[in-house]
Amino acid sequence: MDQYRVEPGSSVDLSALDPSGGDALTCGKREGKAALRSLNVELESLQELLYAQGKHKILIVLQAMDTGGKDGTIRSVFEGVNPQGVSVASFKKPTETELAHDYLWRVHPRTPGSGQIVIFNRSHYEDVLVVRVHDLVPAERWEKRYEHINNFEQLLVDEGTTILKFFLHISKDEQKERLEDRLATPEKHWKFATGDLAERERWDDYQAAYESVLTRTSTEAAPWYVVPADRKWYRNLVISQVIVDTLNGLNMAYPAAEDGLDDVVVV
Ligand code: AMP
Ligand code: MG
Repeated sequence: MDQYRVEPGSSVDLSALDPSGGDALTCGKREGKAALRSLNVELESLQELLYAQGKHKILIVLQAMDTGGKDGTIRSVFEGVNPQGVSVASFKKPTETELAHDYLWRVHPRTPGSGQIVIFNRSHYEDVLVVRVHDLVPAERWEKRYEHINNFEQLLVDEGTTILKFFLHISKDEQKERLEDRLATPEKHWKFATGDLAERERWDDYQAAYESVLTRTSTEAAPWYVVPADRKWYRNLVISQVIVDTLNGLNMAYPAAEDGLDDVVVV
């Protein structure tokens, strides 16, 4: 899965990365879905170990264009995982109180504690994405944020957090299909926001803003992965594999048992 990791210091051109996965697909759909099922089972026990050991903190950041599949990813990748140790923090349009503070103010309290996994559904990156595309603050302010963000993430890592960041890369055509599908399906109308059409008109500006994010904030401490996301099963597989590989790499162990358990009898 290293092929999807953005090498720190490299410059990202999204138009050169195929949202369908192209020839680089590591397997077919049937095989991929079966692999996802076993990764789910593995993730379930890794999460239990993480929780039991209570040492590591895991932060997973999901960013994507509208309809990019953040919600579906959370549903599929974390299916079966004990909800006690996993939570989702969604970042919407900031409230008045949030806007009255710096942009990381609302983010820091949502970061994971020891033994926890937290998934960011959107994140502090919106403050250099939507904010940049819509000129919500002057350029000289958002321009400084890439460095703040790198420093903030380094702080979290220095204090025991493992960070994984995923950009779900869909094509403009795939977004059209997904928006049309939402329009055509009454059960999906709640997900359709006419505002998404205005965002779609700014597709190129968003891609450019994402390229800056990926180029400037993929670090050794907190790398970005650009995930081909036109095929949902493949997107889920890539993300699941990266998370499982990363958790395995932590070499976790259950905490030592109390002394003398062998002699204990439950009466
Ligand atoms: P959704 O994820 O569809 O519920 O939409 C959430 C909306 O909140 C998106 O349109 C985001 O761009 C917007 N949003 C999230 N964070 C910020 C932010 N910091 N500033 C402005 N808008 C934001
Ligand atoms: Mg939306």
